[in-house]
Amino acid sequence: MAISIATDHRMFIDGAVSESTSGEWIEVRSPATGDLVGRVPAGTPADVDRAVAAARRAFRDGRWQRKLLSERTAILNRLADLIDEHADELARTETLQTGTAYKLRRDSDFAFASDNLRFFASQARHLEGKAAYEYSGAHTSMIRREPIGVVGQVAPWNYPFWMAIWKVGPALAAGNSVVIKPATATPITTIRLAELASEAGLPDGVLNVVTGHGDVVGAAIAAHPDVDLISLTGDTETGKRIQALAVSNLKRVHLELGGKAPFIVCADADIEAAARGATAGALINGGQDCTAATRAYVQRSVYERWLARTIELFDGVRVGDPFDPTTDLGTLISAGQVERVDGFVQRAKQVGARVVAGGYRPAVAGFEGGAFYRPTIVVDCSQDSEIVCNEVFGPVLAVLPFDTVEEALAMANDTRYGLAASIWTRDVFTAMEAARTLNFGHVQVNDHLMVASEMPHGGFKQSGFGKDMSSYSFDEYTQVKHVMVELSGEPEKGWHYTIFGDQKPA
Ligand code: NAD
Repeated sequence: MAISIATDHRMFIDGAVSESTSGEWIEVRSPATGDLVGRVPAGTPADVDRAVAAARRAFRDGRWQRKLLSERTAILNRLADLIDEHADELARTETLQTGTAYKLRRDSDFAFASDNLRFFASQARHLEGKAAYEYSGAHTSMIRREPIGVVGQVAPWNYPFWMAIWKVGPALAAGNSVVIKPATATPITTIRLAELASEAGLPDGVLNVVTGHGDVVGAAIAAHPDVDLISLTGDTETGKRIQALAVSNLKRVHLELGGKAPFIVCADADIEAAARGATAGALINGGQDCTAATRAYVQRSVYERWLARTIELFDGVRVGDPFDPTTDLGTLISAGQVERVDGFVQRAKQVGARVVAGGYRPAVAGFEGGAFYRPTIVVDCSQDSEIVCNEVFGPVLAVLPFDTVEEALAMANDTRYGLAASIWTRDVFTAMEAARTLNFGHVQVNDHLMVASEMPHGGFKQSGFGKDMSSYSFDEYTQVKHVMVELSGEPEKGWHYTIFGDQKPA
């Protein structure tokens, strides 16, 4: 079903819609039909300056950070309610921007987004730190947990609105002002987020959206001297660029980057569960998920049985019209992404790998030229091959056999990434050993992909640092201040002899 909502959208700065100083526009097109979904302004460094200035004014005058915490929470909860009320409209726009299946957008992204936001709203009222006490003997020490100031955020295209919530939610709950740049391909729902936040009662200037290209707007935010923290969800190479730009004023850096999640199937696993888990885990959002299962390591004695069932499940996944309720997978984000994914598969074949499911662009009636790619399984690839080492970010699972669990854990850890991993076993000792040994920020036993608002999400190694979700992410957007109050009132202190005298007083 083709839905066209083509219209011009504006940036959101200082509580009002805003055009860009460039006067130029970026077209957002459906990767399924090529239809125009909408246009957004091509932002400039001057637009970033305006947004940062608005955010700084809002922070300085305390209109948000000094608000009673119960009021801050109430506004964020109202925003969560508005997201629920507009979930259908938002999910449709997200489907148009990304080409992915409407059922995923409606039932996953937006349901989780409002729950995440309600969790962050509750965090605003839980400011944690050490108890006040006379630690020095002569002073009462106390901890203040304070917002950092102006937070810059740069978001990806894979879950545009949901990732924006993971960034904006904790930053606002902690009392910061925000300037966010959505991905170039998927800006519209983030603009809607700012409009809904304003409707919920968020004061002007507290949440600003600047649209545009990464190397212009994203880079200007990362380099801006008046931004105190920069947070990116994106590719590892983008993370490195942003970290370099952030050095100019030593801003804090929070990076949620790429992944290459291993999926280990032990001989004692429930094979049906592990086959289903791998299919859903690898293909979620067309495999454009930083935690997607990308490398399956399967114990040799169950390899053929697990592989046969997983091929059957992959082949049964329905690729087609994103708005058709019988569609499981829509498109990838763009024709360019299909090209990239297919390039990985073709190069793997050239070095001896076999494609046992998918591996091609399917024809979808009525969607000629749509960015579709069949769910793909690649076998007979080596541990050091490109398709096993690098992030494909598409519906592709590489499968390798192993003999011992020790060997599987070593292969799983043999990566520059460290975001997510799973192991499938019914043996508690194997599960616990894997939980300890796997060097990833999120390790799952007998499942893959699940997240919870209360628990952290974030990587090790080149998957970045800093956490999303949970109280850990709230803490990322705060800074701890130690306040010490002298209790004696005496002008002369024992330690003053180091300046005023020769020896320590008796
Ligand atoms: P990307 O790095 O290309 O883009 C992310 C954002 O950075 C976009 O808004 C983009 O415009 C901006 N950007 C690009 N170049 C920039 C530059 N030079 N300076 C500043 N900003 C710049 O990533 P993507 O393709 O949008 O998203 C996919 C990537 O995101 C994958 O690597 C995926 O693993 C990762 N991801 C990670 C997580 C996580 O939680 N760790 C979650 C989702 C996606």
